[in-house]
Amino acid sequence: MKLTVFGEILWDVFNNEKKIGGAPFNFAAHAAREGADVRLLSAVGKDALGDEALLACTRMNLPTDGIARVDFPTGRCMVTLENDIPSYDLSGDMAYDHIPLPEDLTDTSTAFYFGTLAQRGEESRATLRKLLFGDGQQYDEIFLDINIRQHYYSDELIEESIRAATILKISREEIGVLQIPGDLPVICKTLLKKYGNLKMILVTMDRDGAMVYERGGKITRSEKPNCEVVSTVGAGDAFSAAFLVHYLNGCSIDECLKRANRLAGWVCGHVEAVPVYPMDDIRKWKAIYRLLNHVETETYDCGTLCDSACCICKGSTKDMGIYLFPGEHLLLRESEKEEDWLTWELQDPAEIEFPESWTGPVYFVNCKTPPVCPRKWRPLQCRTFPLKPVIDENGVLELIWEDEELPYTCPIIEQNLPIHDSFYKATYTVWMHLLRDPRIMDLVQSWS
Ligand code: SF4
Ligand code: SF4
Repeated sequence: MKLTVFGEILWDVFNNEKKIGGAPFNFAAHAAREGADVRLLSAVGKDALGDEALLACTRMNLPTDGIARVDFPTGRCMVTLENDIPSYDLSGDMAYDHIPLPEDLTDTSTAFYFGTLAQRGEESRATLRKLLFGDGQQYDEIFLDINIRQHYYSDELIEESIRAATILKISREEIGVLQIPGDLPVICKTLLKKYGNLKMILVTMDRDGAMVYERGGKITRSEKPNCEVVSTVGAGDAFSAAFLVHYLNGCSIDECLKRANRLAGWVCGHVEAVPVYPMDDIRKWKAIYRLLNHVETETYDCGTLCDSACCICKGSTKDMGIYLFPGEHLLLRESEKEEDWLTWELQDPAEIEFPESWTGPVYFVNCKTPPVCPRKWRPLQCRTFPLKPVIDENGVLELIWEDEELPYTCPIIEQNLPIHDSFYKATYTVWMHLLRDPRIMDLVQSWS
């Protein structure tokens, strides 16, 4: 699914440290992680910060061909946090005020995202108007994250922006700017009546969670993310990205809100607006493997109980192998420098029943000579079988026996044999680490 994102790329500066940001950039990076094919239209300067911004885009897998280099400084914003609430100081005439019209106006995107800040510059605003109202532009959805910053808005700009959108995202604090009397549902009803183009309004309400008010009056609410807050910078953009991507994928509003909350909660636990997914780091996988290197289900290799049933799967007609978790391939590729023991297959997560947040290819490996393998390189699924993680109704991690139908009989499951306490504890610790990666959390939730 293709998504065009228009607006600012800027450096958020916290206490002399700088982090790449800007709501459209954050949104684009999160949307790409959630599986969208993103086209980012923006501008950076011909300066060192511009070079770094393009590098940051590449690192986030965002294409840079829609990002112009212009004769203005790359955007920057001073961010201060008070009680975890960010405030922003945006200054000067910046590159993102001068986003030019792209040479290639062909756009096959399903949806378009924009906000108000980049429209403070006449040049960017004129470009946006042409993109939204030009000939032949037909998006299924136009998502406006109103994102009011300082004094960079006017009644006329807000009016024109809302008139262009099909989905409006606004925070409870921002809604006052619209000067509509009444409580939130009344304000949303009034807005939907005034703007026939809007299908729904998404209101974020800080500690009270979020609410979606749909045309027709249906209200869906969600609790605020359950997380320890380090910084809320970028959380709203993550929320918008997850909501829109999953909405475009056909998820129910309830499901979109759940996924949006989950991603926003994870971002709140980090200083960065777009944190690196934890398990994309080979050092983390090394630590995980180390934790499990010295524990077995029993004090001996349980494969002797069953003639290594789960390695060999005698009589199975299925192509047996093991799926790797996000980032795990980094470590197993290393193993191949020492051993030639795996065959690799790349699978498309969309064609197998994996969560939509699994955007990259999924690696499926087969052991060449099972049950003989280099023990220190066994993939995670081998190491933790037959324990399976699930999340209970209180959000607590539990380990249960694998309950999927298997093409072999595992005596540990069948006979409910006791397993070694150290194995249980190490496996629990490992899953607690893995669940910090929202993709793995999505997978485990799908099993629960
Ligand atoms: S986990 Fe079960 S099936 Fe696999 S080797 Fe051990 S006893 Fe056999
Ligand atoms: S990695 Fe080793 S234990 Fe796991 S399936 Fe392959 S041969 Fe069996």
